[in-house]
Amino acid sequence: MSELIDRFDRQVRYLRLSVTDRCNLRCTYCMAEDMTFLPKSKVLSLEEMALIARAFVELGVEKVRLTGGEPLVRHGIIELAEQIRAIDGLRELVMTTNGVLLDKFSKPLVEAGVSRLNISIDSLQPARFKELTRFGEVEDVLRGIDAARKAGFDKIKLNAVILQGINDDEVLDLTQFAVDHGLDISFIEEMPLGEIDSHNRNATQLSSQQIHTMLEQTFDIRPSGFVDPAGGPSRYQQIAGSDTKLGFISPMSNNFCATCNRVRLTVEGRLLLCLGNEHSLDLREIVREYPNDLPRLKAAIVESMQRKPERHHFDPNDITITRHMSATGG
Ligand code: SAM
Ligand code: SF4
Repeated sequence: MSELIDRFDRQVRYLRLSVTDRCNLRCTYCMAEDMTFLPKSKVLSLEEMALIARAFVELGVEKVRLTGGEPLVRHGIIELAEQIRAIDGLRELVMTTNGVLLDKFSKPLVEAGVSRLNISIDSLQPARFKELTRFGEVEDVLRGIDAARKAGFDKIKLNAVILQGINDDEVLDLTQFAVDHGLDISFIEEMPLGEIDSHNRNATQLSSQQIHTMLEQTFDIRPSGFVDPAGGPSRYQQIAGSDTKLGFISPMSNNFCATCNRVRLTVEGRLLLCLGNEHSLDLREIVREYPNDLPRLKAAIVESMQRKPERHHFDPNDITITRHMSATGG
């Protein structure tokens, strides 16, 4: 039972920890071309992150996700994973990555206790992948996926953001790739987080329902008995005749806030109580003013639950959240 209960009776059991705002890609829907990154002094140290993670786990959080930016570009990421994995009471340590560095990091991650990976890949076509990420090589990600499959993670899921007119013609190929490689796959609706200059988010919006309609013409999609024990927003189905679970994350078309069980910590130590609102608490101030004062930190976190808003309101025509996903801890 979590001690973290908000005004709407939701229990927070899941922390997404952004370990860096930097990235080795520049996905057009996630970042502007010219991003300014935070100076080191503003970024939480690994020790500060581990302390905050401990406070959350002691309060009842069972699952921690390391994310970013790209978590694998943070120096000391393996040591951080080991420290967090060792916290008593944590059930699961997982990571979301773009996969570029997985060739090098898959084995150390498994050894450090990371049990599941989400790997983002929006295109299998080299030229398009480069365009979508501004300079990435899809080959690096494919090699990374291969290394991850061999390294022994409990589960690997692909995540793809599908944009109308940009990569919607790859929905079937991406799904077939997941089936052929024994991986799960989730499709994510693009959210209007941060100003971008590459495309008009309103014009590229594609709903989970539209993607489902494309898929069911080729794949036999069955209901899945799978229920994410951590209560995630993805609704799962099964591709018949395969091990692949198919998920849809629909922040735009299907509001899932009523079952929200998560909070996010930005790399600056800002505890964000909702992805789509700015309600937050500055935990960096607390850990820097009162180093190692775990009781004080825990009391502040419990108190912050009162600030968790009921729901998000996203409108692709009206970007009210100016922080980019990379700065949020996606
Ligand atoms: N760099 C890592 C990666 O790409 O997996 C982790 C951080 S990234 C911000 C986490 C996820 O957020 C990725 O799957 C990415 O595709 C997704 N994402 C980024 N910007 C988004 C947006 N505006 N709307 C929806 N999903 C977004
Ligand atoms: Fe980097 Fe991930 Fe954002 Fe792409 S989605 S720019 S890989 S943080």
